[in-house]
Parts: sequence; C-alpha cells; structure tokens
Amino acid sequence: MPETAVPRTADLHLHTRFSDGTETPERVVELAKAAGVSCIAITDHDTLAGLPLAEPVAQRLGIELVPGVEMSASAGGVEVHLLGYWVDGAHAPFRAHLERQHSRRIGRIHEMVAQLGRVGVRIDAAEVLALAGEGTVGRPHVARILVKRGYVATMPEAFDKYIGDGKPGFVPGSPIDPRGIIQLIRDAGGVPVLAHPMYLRNDALVEQFTRDGLAGIEAFHSSHPQELVLRYERLAERLKLLVTGGSDFHGDAKEGLPVGAVKVPYAMVDALRRWKTAHLNATP
Ligand code: AMP
Ligand code: FE
Ligand code: FE
Ligand code: ZN
Repeated sequence: MPETAVPRTADLHLHTRFSDGTETPERVVELAKAAGVSCIAITDHDTLAGLPLAEPVAQRLGIELVPGVEMSASAGGVEVHLLGYWVDGAHAPFRAHLERQHSRRIGRIHEMVAQLGRVGVRIDAAEVLALAGEGTVGRPHVARILVKRGYVATMPEAFDKYIGDGKPGFVPGSPIDPRGIIQLIRDAGGVPVLAHPMYLRNDALVEQFTRDGLAGIEAFHSSHPQELVLRYERLAERLKLLVTGGSDFHGDAKEGLPVGAVKVPYAMVDALRRWKTAHLNATP
C-alpha cells in the first residue's frame, strides 16, 4: 500500500516535572511520539532544566524538539505568561534572571502561605516546596496541598477561592513587566509569544506587548473555545503577529489533556523560525 503523507504537526506548549507538570521530559517526548506529533516545545515555567533530558530521546524517536520556556511577568498586578522559543540558556542576563526567579518563587511560596494564614488557611510552606522538588515551584503546588489538606476539593477551586489573581493568597509570579521579559527573550535569541491570551482578556495589552516587541500569540490553546481561536487569529492578523498553539500539557495535574490535545500545522514552526532569522542578530 502506498504511504500517505501525514501532515506534520506541532504541540508548542508542554510542561514537565521541572515545573508544574507531573511527567518527566523523556516521557513527554515519548507521549508526543505516540500521539503522532512531529515537533514539540517543552515550555516549563521559568526553567530550561528539562531540555537536556528530552533532547536525546527526541533524537532517538525522530521528534523535533524546540527548546522553550514559559516566563512569568506582571502587568500592574495582572499575571502574564510569555513563551520563549529557542532561547539561549547560556546568555548571561537570561540565566541570571532564571536564577533570580528560582529564589523569588521560593520566597513567594512563603508569602502566599503567610497570606493564606491570615484568612485562616494553615498550610506548611515546606510541604509545598517538597512537592515541587528541584522543579520550579508555583501556584499549582500550593493548590495540590490545599486539596490534600482538605481546604478545597479540586485545584480549580483552590484558584477560585484562594490563589487565583487577586484572591487572598495571590502573589505575582514575577515583578518584571512583560516588556522586560519580551526584551530578555529577544536578547537571548528567543522568539517571544504571548501564552493563552484568554486569561488576559485584554486586547489593548496585546497591542502594547506588540509595540514592546512581541512576535506572536498562542491563538490555539486547550482552554480556547473555537470562537476565541478565531478572535485571536483576527487579532494576530491586525497586529501582524504570528499565530502558534499548544496543549499546555501538565500530565496528571490537568486531567483529560494529553500531549497533542492541541496540534497545529508545522508551518507555524517554520514561521517562528523565519521570524527569528529576520528579527534577531545571530547569537555569537
Ligand atoms: P504560577 O506560575 O506559579 O503563577 O502558576 C501558574 C500556573 O497555574 C499555570 O501555568 C497553570 O498551570 C495553573 N493555573 C492557573 N490558573 C489556574 C486555574 N484557574 N485552575 C487550575 N490551574 C491554574
Ligand atoms: Fe503551569
Ligand atoms: Fe501559562
Ligand atoms: Zn503553560
């Protein structure tokens, strides 16, 4: 039987145990292979640590691995996530930022635990930090302990009641504004893309980020219903931004959401790469 050419697809937003996902980087690559995705980006929160483990497995299985990261920023107290593709982890200011984020995020857990204590919720920061292990610690780890200690029944409830933006236990993930993070990604040779714009729900801010040097927006995301995908595709067209997409896979921390839950055409990866060539000086 003649082989039919299967169109190549990509899933450009995946988390591992190195942040708030539950699978190893190696396993994430295997899951991508099983799902028939030809290109993936591992985009852990504020760390590149999972990439060296994923790389040899990707090579062995013939999966293209785009080195990525999902970086926290704060736009006047509003949490903004920026994806950076092909960032160079050896770039000194970039590496220094990730190191600062690592200690800031630990300090943030202590602040969150103190704030929660003021509303009668008593959890132990050490237990949250132990859950994250060596990985980037974040609100999902706090949420899991809130469930474990019986304060809420589910993780979404933990965000709704206690740790979502503006809730009593909320502390921003980074003090740096999106402009600074966009610049940092570009300086490190990366392509900056706004993650899951639906959580922002603010087109004026997207316009601002575009003036600040944003390259694209993640119109395709597992939380975006069809009408939002269309809306963000139109916004991208108007602002001359690239469009990307990904599942935002977190393993067991987000049930019913496998690797490849969002598959985008491989042409989007080519477009990102062309943007990098056209806009950024080659890193020495
Ligand atoms: P952090 O980077 O520590 O602020 O944590 C942000 C992460 O929390 C996101 O990447 C999601 O994985 C998770 N998250 C944010 N909002 C919610 C929500 N409403 N329900 C469940 N998980 C959420
Ligand atoms: Fe996450
Ligand atoms: Fe995110
Ligand atoms: Zn994510």
